[in-house]
Amino acid sequence: MIQLYIPLNFLGVIYREIKQSLADMERLFSLLDENREVADAPDAQPLVTQGAQVRFSHVEFSYEPKRQILFDVDFTIAAGTTTAIVGHSGSGKSTLSRLLFRFYEVDSGAITIDGQDLRAVTQDSLRHAIGIVPQDTVLFNDTIEYNIAYGKPGATHDEIVAVAKAASIHEFIDSLPDGYRTMVGERGLKLSGGEKQRVAIARTLLKNPAILVFDEATSALDSKSEQAIQAQLKEIARNRTTMVIAHRLSTVADAHQILVLDHGRIVERGSHAALLAADGLYAQMWARQQARANAPDEAAA
Ligand code: ATP
Repeated sequence: MIQLYIPLNFLGVIYREIKQSLADMERLFSLLDENREVADAPDAQPLVTQGAQVRFSHVEFSYEPKRQILFDVDFTIAAGTTTAIVGHSGSGKSTLSRLLFRFYEVDSGAITIDGQDLRAVTQDSLRHAIGIVPQDTVLFNDTIEYNIAYGKPGATHDEIVAVAKAASIHEFIDSLPDGYRTMVGERGLKLSGGEKQRVAIARTLLKNPAILVFDEATSALDSKSEQAIQAQLKEIARNRTTMVIAHRLSTVADAHQILVLDHGRIVERGSHAALLAADGLYAQMWARQQARANAPDEAAA
């Protein structure tokens, strides 16, 4: 009986392992699936960054032939500065970050990084240069250490602890009975939205990319987590070319440049103060958000 039990038990372990790997693979493929149409040019060169100036030059784009999403989008993010993109839901903000990552090709115009057209560089080198802190971080069914190390395969434990400290998640991890070996993901410990974003920030710090894209969570975090994440974001964005896709305007007041998108067009641009003074769409959105923040119950009603 024991003789039978051991192999069966072993098979059970293998089955669980395979199932877990499949869950991870599924996620990976669903991520990869997005860029099926995009391939490296035969003579593609590795992207070489020097400061990483990002330029969108008269970009037009549609996901489907009959519905254009972006119209003549033209802007520059100077090396080492932060540009925030704001606009109503569906105005095309996240599409800009997908195009920068080259998940899709532009229909016309061009996107360049330090003068190199994205279509002329290898996707590998492009994705190496860009770190994304997404709205909703994918956690693998593995340890929290593995999930942070994903930013830099082969990272040492000390490196992982250092970035976890910088992302203010070390104390939380340390307080768990299994510490860095705690299993997370669907089958393990469920992390809150704020904790997941901190894992993503730690991953990004480990990756140390030339360009940072921060896609702010649409679901509001509690204000303490929100403030902590803002502070960390500011820290990692310092001297790094950064694009913030902002769903709440409180995030963007410090940006060097704010672009206001409306139905796929940039309708206003400038600093927070300049845009308030211009008294246009941004000023309206700001006034509405301030009113909502001061009277949350009324806004919800
Ligand atoms: P939100 O603030 O709600 O996240 P957004 O400004 O980031 O919105 P995008 O996600 O860029 O908006 O979407 C812009 C438009 O493109 C929307 O009308 C959306 O329906 C459409 N869209 C987005 N992704 C796809 C897709 N994969 N296929 C077809 N249309 C899409």
